[in-house]
Amino acid sequence: MHKREQWERELSHVITKREELAKLIDLTEDEAQAIEELQEEYPLKISRHYASLLSPTDPNDPLRRMVVPTMKELQHKPGEEDDDVHADEARYQPCPGIVHRYHGKLLLLPTLTCASHCRFCFRKGGKVQHLSQEESDRALDYIRKDQSIRDVIITGGEPLVLSDDELYHWLSSLRAIPHVELIRITTRSPIYTPSRITESFVRMLAEHNPLFMTMSFVHPREITPDVERGLRMMGDAGIVMLQQGPLLKGVNDDPAVLKRLYEKLVSLRVMPYYAIWGIHTPGAEHFVVEGPEASRILGSMENKTSGFCVPHLITIARGDKVRMMGWSPEKEQYHLERRQRAKSTTRAQFAPAQDARHD
Ligand code: SF4
Repeated sequence: MHKREQWERELSHVITKREELAKLIDLTEDEAQAIEELQEEYPLKISRHYASLLSPTDPNDPLRRMVVPTMKELQHKPGEEDDDVHADEARYQPCPGIVHRYHGKLLLLPTLTCASHCRFCFRKGGKVQHLSQEESDRALDYIRKDQSIRDVIITGGEPLVLSDDELYHWLSSLRAIPHVELIRITTRSPIYTPSRITESFVRMLAEHNPLFMTMSFVHPREITPDVERGLRMMGDAGIVMLQQGPLLKGVNDDPAVLKRLYEKLVSLRVMPYYAIWGIHTPGAEHFVVEGPEASRILGSMENKTSGFCVPHLITIARGDKVRMMGWSPEKEQYHLERRQRAKSTTRAQFAPAQDARHD
């Protein structure tokens, strides 16, 4: 009989009830009411590890805001159904478990289950919980038949709630397809359930290198010694690790917080890839950071840390990801003025730019 590993036991002991959470933190009336009212729509779910990181007394604790609901989640606004990611992605689903929006790459969603429920999530469950054997075969067939697909992103939900055997099946089946060059896994499990990163799991991943793990860290306090251990193991096994996380109002919309986060991640070989702003999701409007603010926050980090500690800024516009490349109206103005000055200066007078950076 299969002996359950620690991470499997932890997954079956997540906190889902108000009374359980109230033993660990002083719930406000607002939080307690929101937990009750959201039981059906998007229930409480917090791993024991993550719950141990929450401030028991401060309702504004950034980590607490990420996993404990408030009544703001129930403040629906007219027209928000247009922001439903499932309705949008349904237009790009050739079969269950596949979202094929862009040329050359697609999302593979073997499960929509998660290790904990992020209150800012834009997927929030969905229709398919776990692909059946027949649906899995169809999804793999779809990838095999379309030779333009070179990049497969295994996402969810949370792929790391699957057993090692199931993940091995997906990874080895994809590796056997000659036109699939890149395989990525997106996950928050190393943050919610650090015990998921076991030696045997990492060995299994390494068998399928080159493999990209993209993780969504949001706050530097999420990087505990246990989390560091998991990241070091994956780094040592040659897994390429990337950070792609949201900017969230009241959680990490602060350059000092992000600088600490990105610098720590880089020291653990997790390279900041992108930060996403302005995702409008029903029930998560209170987290939205808008473009000018996002640009100001990340822009203020430039030249204050290593270049690769500053990620790209991304948003979603009409369903497509848009990369901002660190450009802003202020920079455009500065650039134009500088060119104007340069034009009116003779070549002999022109001094080397003082602000060039090579990083
Ligand atoms: S881990 Fe990802 S998919 Fe799961 S709840 Fe959090 S943001 Fe959503």
